[in-house]
Amino acid sequence: DRKEQALLFLNRRGYHTTILCTGCEEPLTCRDCDIPMTFYKAPGHLLCHYCGRTSAPPARCPACGHTCIRFTGFGTELVEHAARSLFPHARVARMDSEAMKARDAHVDLFSKIRSREIDILVGTQMAAKGLDFPGITLIGVVAADTSLLIPDFRSAERTFQLVTQVAGRSGRGAKEGRVLVQTYSPDHYAYQAALGHDYEGFAEKELVHRREARYPPFGSLLRIVIQGEDEKAVRERSGVIAEALGMGAASLGITMLGPSPCPLSRIKRLFRYHIVFRADHGRDLEELIPRGERLLSSTKRIQVLIDRDPTSMM
Ligand SMILES: [Zn+2]
Ligand SMILES: [Zn+2]
Repeated sequence: DRKEQALLFLNRRGYHTTILCTGCEEPLTCRDCDIPMTFYKAPGHLLCHYCGRTSAPPARCPACGHTCIRFTGFGTELVEHAARSLFPHARVARMDSEAMKARDAHVDLFSKIRSREIDILVGTQMAAKGLDFPGITLIGVVAADTSLLIPDFRSAERTFQLVTQVAGRSGRGAKEGRVLVQTYSPDHYAYQAALGHDYEGFAEKELVHRREARYPPFGSLLRIVIQGEDEKAVRERSGVIAEALGMGAASLGITMLGPSPCPLSRIKRLFRYHIVFRADHGRDLEELIPRGERLLSSTKRIQVLIDRDPTSMM
């Protein structure tokens, strides 16, 4: 009624994000990646966000043959539908990489938001980036814990950045803005600090955890990813590398974690293992690599990727 605009933010695309067999309780994953397939209602198919493979929703579970398949979890497409049915008079638009496929689609949407032809915008990080809409005075961060629960030491920092960025978006104009965060952990310091625009408060708490675990900035990381189509060969090579570098690591005071399957254990048909080295000083890690020179070279069958100061542990 106030003719103001709302942004519903969710960093998950698609309609249903989990397709679960009720027989064996296994989620349906991509044939080539160890990634759950996402259901898109508009084209009516399943899509793998890693390799782009699409398939028809299965009539039966590929693992056990059970015919009762449950579609659960929600992404931006479902939130858009929900917003339309809850507010039938509102003009709703969605901004994510699926909806913005057409050339200049985001330019059109941008001008519609500016001219107040959109009441509710549902979007991913794409909507949070770089845009400045003075009419948006209500922001909802839907299922914010999605980013907090990612198994990566930077997940709290990313969540803090995300909520800070989104929160900074409301009320840029003359009107007062409001931010609502949907979470099971409202007291988590990442949310508390983000909503209070308290960067120092966040850093203080986060640094305690980082220091305890010797994660950056208190230590340096080196991640070796071993990948290939033959899982046994990948696992064996990982073991050999770990054995070869493990001794040297110990003598240099470096901690070795793994080898273990990466959180994303298979992407585009490649099985992935990783070994993570943690040192107090980056220069110690520099000394480590030459010790495994030969083992660390990639072959056609097995690729070895060396990542200094990795930005992702997935
Ligand atoms: Zn099944
Ligand atoms: Zn895939």
